[in-house]
Amino acid sequence: MKVTAVTCHLLQSKVEKPFTSARGWLYTTRASCIVEIATDAGITGWGECYGPAAVNKTLIETQYAPRVIGRDPFDVEVVWEDLYNRIKDYGPSGFSITALSGIDIALWDVMGRATGKPIHKLIGGAYRKELQAYATGLYFIDMDRLVEEAVEEALEYKEQGFQAIKMKIGLGDPKLDYRRVKAVREAVGPDVQLAVDANHCFSVPQAIRLGRMLEEFDLMWFEEPISPEDHDGYAQVTQALDLAVAGGENDFTRFGFRDIIAKKAMDIVQPDVCAAGGISEMRKIATLASAFGVECVPHAWGSTIGLAATIQFLAALPDQPPALRPMPPMLEFEQTPNPLRDILAKEPIVQQRGIVRVPEGPGLGIEVDREVLNRFKVA
Ligand code: CA
Repeated sequence: MKVTAVTCHLLQSKVEKPFTSARGWLYTTRASCIVEIATDAGITGWGECYGPAAVNKTLIETQYAPRVIGRDPFDVEVVWEDLYNRIKDYGPSGFSITALSGIDIALWDVMGRATGKPIHKLIGGAYRKELQAYATGLYFIDMDRLVEEAVEEALEYKEQGFQAIKMKIGLGDPKLDYRRVKAVREAVGPDVQLAVDANHCFSVPQAIRLGRMLEEFDLMWFEEPISPEDHDGYAQVTQALDLAVAGGENDFTRFGFRDIIAKKAMDIVQPDVCAAGGISEMRKIATLASAFGVECVPHAWGSTIGLAATIQFLAALPDQPPALRPMPPMLEFEQTPNPLRDILAKEPIVQQRGIVRVPEGPGLGIEVDREVLNRFKVA
């Protein structure tokens, strides 16, 4: 089997109620670069790239596609190494790896469809057939009702059946962050798991101070307390807090994660399958993490395709550690309005009582709805 075409679809949808996080970027649209790989066997595979879609599209079209056409999709890691070594002099991290991720995921999808197996069966097998999902939300929307809107949104997720929620923090005032987390914890009660995400807005001492204040709320983790470049700073925050520290959505490849993991700079690493290098590289990062006793709980932010790839990877990720009653790695199920996540697959990915079933169909286990794809396609 040979690849005959690599096509990038730039999809975009408008956000009705724009929201922001501690980074301060206002989300008014959601966009994705979707990668479609066609083969001479008539099998099509799908992938997705994290981050600004137009840049990913350009990188793939100008740098990668000509080197992928004519290759056997089953040579997926050979292709990965070839593309990485083609680009690493200019871009060993960032866009060059997000673009590579989309191609890698699409090649795994082709292999799954060619063998009639879901990807998780090709990468080690099913440790689990259902995933515990946590709702990501509680962004900042109405700056005059930050506490009230957080409580209302958290209660909606609880009502929908979610057993775990991740909320945004980083409002420039530790007392306000404390008050908002306290209000959410009191509203959802002690049995809903709760995590906080600062989108790397703090300095090391600010993060340690706020982390100590928040420790009383029984949090799953404190995500991205500080800027992703400062690995020594992460080690300081991680050592200072009883609370688990997480990060890694802005880190790329096994090489980018190597020092974080070897230093135990984070308790939990969160590589994103659409960013860190695709399914192939996620396996290597997870193996590194396992060898050093660091937990791996993937980050996910994107369309149904990225979500499906995350689910396939999570199904084949061992319990950390195995136990009579293990606490399996959770699925990030982002909940801000996004039709690209909700309706791009013919059979959408849904949760019930906070559980998401792992699709058993071949490849990613979803069928892309081309009518929806074309409706949101802008380039
Ligand atoms: Ca995050």
